[in-house]
Amino acid sequence: MIGMSENPLPGVFRRAGRPAVSVEFFPPKDPAGGERMLEAARVLKGLGVDFASITYGAGGTSRDTTLHYGAKLVAMGYPMVGHLTCVGHTREELSGLIARYDDAGFSGILALRGDPPKGQAAFVRHEGGFGHAHELVRLIRAERPGRFSVAVAGFPERHPDSPDDLSDVRHLAGKVAAGADFVTTQLFLDNADYFRFVARARAAGVRVPVVPGILPVLSLKQARSFCGFCKARIPAALERELAACGEDEEAQRRVGVRWAVAQARGLLAAGAPGLHVYVLNKSESAQELFAALRA
Ligand SMILES: Cc1cc2nc3c(=O)[nH]c(=O)nc-3n(C[C@H](O)[C@H](O)[C@H](O)COP(=O)(O)OP(=O)(O)OC[C@H]3O[C@@H](n4cnc5c(N)ncnc54)[C@H](O)[C@@H]3O)c2cc1C
Repeated sequence: MIGMSENPLPGVFRRAGRPAVSVEFFPPKDPAGGERMLEAARVLKGLGVDFASITYGAGGTSRDTTLHYGAKLVAMGYPMVGHLTCVGHTREELSGLIARYDDAGFSGILALRGDPPKGQAAFVRHEGGFGHAHELVRLIRAERPGRFSVAVAGFPERHPDSPDDLSDVRHLAGKVAAGADFVTTQLFLDNADYFRFVARARAAGVRVPVVPGILPVLSLKQARSFCGFCKARIPAALERELAACGEDEEAQRRVGVRWAVAQARGLLAAGAPGLHVYVLNKSESAQELFAALRA
């Protein structure tokens, strides 16, 4: 178990003069994918990334792999944020997982409600479990006081279940009041959505860092699929640029990097506390993004 004083995450967003950069991995489906993910992680670690996160149960991935690969990333030297969702878990099971995240040396937990499993239209509270992320935040704080940095999710274009912007940020404020240290956002492709979201969150009393989530898009097909799933908008200009590349996948990837660089520059210039990059277990686009930002 890592002691509180060794947790490198508190204060990561307050370091003078430099935004904190994090990268998000997902647990690979097979050992070959695992090797590719770990190689990408090695490359990105060498670029001075501040911390990494790893998803939990998203896209049907097995849940044990979050701990398995998360521990490997800890061993590589990453301060690690493990995602955790309430889907299909009782309170006791979540307590057990929090203890396992502690044993694995994770520095933080991204506390999430999670999406309904495939084939289920709406989220249903598991018997003996939780209905919303703030309950998980409370559990983490109660089970391991001071041990973890706790993050929660924010939605610049509003969570799809939220009836309006106001209730959306009120519930975000509730998660922060329950004990979250920072907010990481869903991907968005138009910075105006992030700026409006941060303004709403501040008006609702959210004072913690709101870290923008950036996806260097790989292709038009991928952008449509991801944005369709998380209900994010693809700006018409980006769609046009990607479509103009035709079938040339490398050209589309380069458009995605250029767009992400422009987004990142705009966000940092406006005072964003850091960048959380959805790297999709690859290093190439993120490397180019970081190189452009350094330049
Ligand atoms: C950065 C990031 C990482 C993610 N990682 C994963 C992952 O690893 N695995 C995975 O399965 N999913 C992941 N997701 C997706 C996430 O689980 C879904 O978006 C899910 O639908 C919402 O989770 P949440 O934690 O925001 O839920 P909540 O905060 O519980 O919010 C869900 C909805 O309920 C409303 N609500 C919140 N509190 C209350 C309340 N007290 N009363 C009434 N309504 C309320 C909210 O406004 C919102 O509309 C991630 C999302 C983000 C942004």
